[in-house]
Amino acid sequence: MSVQSHYDVIVVGGGPIGLSAAWRSAVGGARVLVIDRFGFLNDRCGSSGNERHWRVQYTQTDIFRLTLSAAPLWRELEQLAGRKLIHRLGSLWFGDISVPTNEGHIADTAKAMDEMEVCYEWLSARDIGRRWGFTDLPRHFEGFLQPDGGAIDVRGTLAALATLASRNGVTMHSDERVVAVDPDANGAHVRSDRAVYRADKVVIAGNAHTNDLIQRWGVDGLDLNVYEMALVTLRQRDDGVQRPFWFAFQQPSDTDTNLFYGFPPNPWAGDDLVRLGPDFEVGALEHADDATGRPQQAHVDRVLGWARTHMPWVAPDPVSTSTCLAVLPGDPDRQFYLGTAEGLVDGGSNVVVAAGGWAFKLVPLFGRICADLALRGSTEHEIGRHALTDLVPSRG
Ligand SMILES: Cc1cc2nc3c(=O)[nH]c(=O)nc-3n(C[C@H](O)[C@H](O)[C@H](O)COP(=O)(O)OP(=O)(O)OC[C@H]3O[C@@H](n4cnc5c(N)ncnc54)[C@H](O)[C@@H]3O)c2cc1C
Repeated sequence: MSVQSHYDVIVVGGGPIGLSAAWRSAVGGARVLVIDRFGFLNDRCGSSGNERHWRVQYTQTDIFRLTLSAAPLWRELEQLAGRKLIHRLGSLWFGDISVPTNEGHIADTAKAMDEMEVCYEWLSARDIGRRWGFTDLPRHFEGFLQPDGGAIDVRGTLAALATLASRNGVTMHSDERVVAVDPDANGAHVRSDRAVYRADKVVIAGNAHTNDLIQRWGVDGLDLNVYEMALVTLRQRDDGVQRPFWFAFQQPSDTDTNLFYGFPPNPWAGDDLVRLGPDFEVGALEHADDATGRPQQAHVDRVLGWARTHMPWVAPDPVSTSTCLAVLPGDPDRQFYLGTAEGLVDGGSNVVVAAGGWAFKLVPLFGRICADLALRGSTEHEIGRHALTDLVPSRG
């Protein structure tokens, strides 16, 4: 196949981070192509479903600074889109305050909030029960409410980013799969199942499918685990209580990580549906394409068991269940991969990679960082923890 077209930047993957990177690159003056194998706004990868948790607090202060930097970019996005995307319902973390999890660590996060001068309210199990109606919480449970947190409108964000990308001249190809990114000293060839393109810079934002492209360079790939996580939708009984987003931190059980979270009804949906999930990092898929779209019944049962014990305000039978592909680095402290592939492959400085983690909250910032790395070769933000380099040993 001969090279069809030349772009300044090609973005592989049109999920929220890819769309954000494409939009920001175009705003920076680049001629941009974004390619997605399933289509923009698809519900088959890491951004399926309706809502994500917005929180500023992080256990690691460098990542905390990133969320604080993301906040004004969300406001800018909301202004440009002419719609509210973050709904500030509050972010409630409670449970065993010393258990380390992929979400964070309650006690250390409280210290980080003190250091960053971010306000929160400390609560006992009793407070949490009295205020929001959680029942039978172990007495040693404690936690905090951070009032700026809440829920992100996922579909609204995707629609806003796709509109902004298109309005700023980004060429958008859907139902096209990139099969190889081959960098060299001057740029990279991007081969898809339709064509071969040439770009000065490439952003790989394929999330669960990132290693398909990276492993072609003769390296082992990023240490990413892909989990097909369950989501359970239940109906809330009308008790007039406005609840925050909540995350329950518990010691791992014999079978799973024993972590649960839930959203109150979405303010933008105007219904009485609550969404609960287990955050079980167990049973990683061999490959993202092995996903079935059906949650494991054992995980659904665990969520329903938790709800029956602690949430008398929801009807016990699920309205529906679904899944989402969670893509998590093996090292929970790292949280994300974000940086160039310099040192991993010849011409690696011409390729930027963003993959993994609970990254929806950082979408406008990660888009900007990807564009900065692609257009300028650097970013003002502290992303050293997330670099690709030393974790991907060469096979050669
Ligand atoms: C159950 C669950 C709960 C979560 N909760 C939160 C939360 O509360 N807060 C939070 O901040 N984050 C959360 N996350 C994480 C967040 O949803 C993801 O980090 C984010 O949606 C990922 O966006 P993305 O653009 O990186 O990837 P994706 O949305 O996965 O998009 C990747 C895109 O790349 C395309 N693609 C892949 N390979 C190719 C290829 N070879 N060629 C062309 N296209 C390709 C795919 O089709 C896809 O559209 C959660 C995730 C899950 C699964």
